[in-house]
Amino acid sequence: MVAYAVPSLHETQDRTYQTALQQFDRAVSYLKGLPDGLIEFMKWPRRELSVNFPVRMDDGEVKVFSGFRVHHNTVLGPSKGGIRYSSHVNIDEVRALAMWMSWKCALVNLPYGGAKGGVVVDPHKHSQDELAKLTRRFTSEIILLIGPKIDIPAPDMGTNAQTMAWMMDTYSMTMGYSVPAVVTGKPLNIGGSLGREEATGRGVIVCMLEALRQLEITRNPKDIVVVVQGFGNVGSNAAKRAHDLGFKIVAVSDASGGYYNPKGLNIPAMLEYVKRSPHKLLEGYKGDAQPVTNAELLELPCDVLIPAALENQLTADNARRVRAKLIVEGANGPTTPEADDILNDQGVLVVPDILANAGGVTVSYFEWVQGLQEYFWDEDEVYRRLERILIRAYDEVVHTSEIHKVDMRTAAQVTAINRVAQATLTRGFYP
Ligand code: NAD
Repeated sequence: MVAYAVPSLHETQDRTYQTALQQFDRAVSYLKGLPDGLIEFMKWPRRELSVNFPVRMDDGEVKVFSGFRVHHNTVLGPSKGGIRYSSHVNIDEVRALAMWMSWKCALVNLPYGGAKGGVVVDPHKHSQDELAKLTRRFTSEIILLIGPKIDIPAPDMGTNAQTMAWMMDTYSMTMGYSVPAVVTGKPLNIGGSLGREEATGRGVIVCMLEALRQLEITRNPKDIVVVVQGFGNVGSNAAKRAHDLGFKIVAVSDASGGYYNPKGLNIPAMLEYVKRSPHKLLEGYKGDAQPVTNAELLELPCDVLIPAALENQLTADNARRVRAKLIVEGANGPTTPEADDILNDQGVLVVPDILANAGGVTVSYFEWVQGLQEYFWDEDEVYRRLERILIRAYDEVVHTSEIHKVDMRTAAQVTAINRVAQATLTRGFYP
């Protein structure tokens, strides 16, 4: 009989974690013959650390912050996953994101397990100095759990290449020598990879092109209408890549609201505007666009909708009003299971997060490999290998979805969870 070490896992109130657990239950129901104990083992996080730590603010006051690092599964290799800075982060959200990282890495055949971390902080409310101190102290608090052979963090919402530079420096100072491979998503001048910054958004568009082919939508890209929610790392790079390929992007949004022009937006001008804005937001953008709310944006007429901001955006409340034919999930967990069912019934193709946004962790893997070998590739090499990996994973998901007659999300999770299951069985249960 399994004794549950963390009973609260069974009663989570967190919508994101409920989604991750429901998706898991749905996927494993197609995997016949796996021992119950193995399923239980794959469902829950392997280990997790919660920390509370003080940081001196610019005005001299000391504030205490809470943070988390969760390793979900480490059967396939060291764990890998981003660090999120947001005032909404909680342990259950981090557990969900860590679990999705396990499936994502397995799906694209990376030798990694899944992890995630976060700090409860709104990064926009702090100076660079405060963020540097917070990041260094948080790194030091979780240092037991990270390392190039143990667990390799990367950027996620609210963090970026600079955050990774501070983490890498803190870890290296503790070890006494430089350890670039402890994090990925670093700046280029300290061992980052060409193409990492753009990788997730670029991967989203690789998947979009595959899905358009699958749906036999073969019109000229200028007549294919795309809407993007979120204009941070993933959303802006997806929008840029789609724009460069000639697609018509009619709406984009960020935390400050949405911008819509049915004739197509000037994406380069919007990218430039955000780059110069103090909080990296579209707020105050005066170009040729009308304002829409984030909720309205999801329901705009379009061919492709790319949610690339937050979890739980497409729910039972709004899924029926979605007019896109194709949804490519840049964000993690933007669609609840209830919305999935509605969208499937409506014939909307959803390319799931663990496939659509796997470009980020794939190029993170390239960065780690380059760092360990101290031999760096050019951008073409990075993109060529990225495309090959994503297209192969896409084809495998389509194949699994045909075998089991299931949607792409279930197929992706069936493929990934089965890989982790088979590897666990091959390794055996220690001792
Ligand atoms: P980011 O912080 O760079 O950007 C987040 C964007 O979402 C910003 O434009 C922000 O303004 C916007 N946003 C915040 N609240 C919003 C709201 N209420 N409505 C609409 N927009 C809102 O983060 P990111 O790295 O682009 O991550 C976005 C999503 O993609 C997350 O789910 C993350 O887990 C996922 N993801 C990121 C990567 C990566 O490489 N960065 C990889 C895989 C998945």
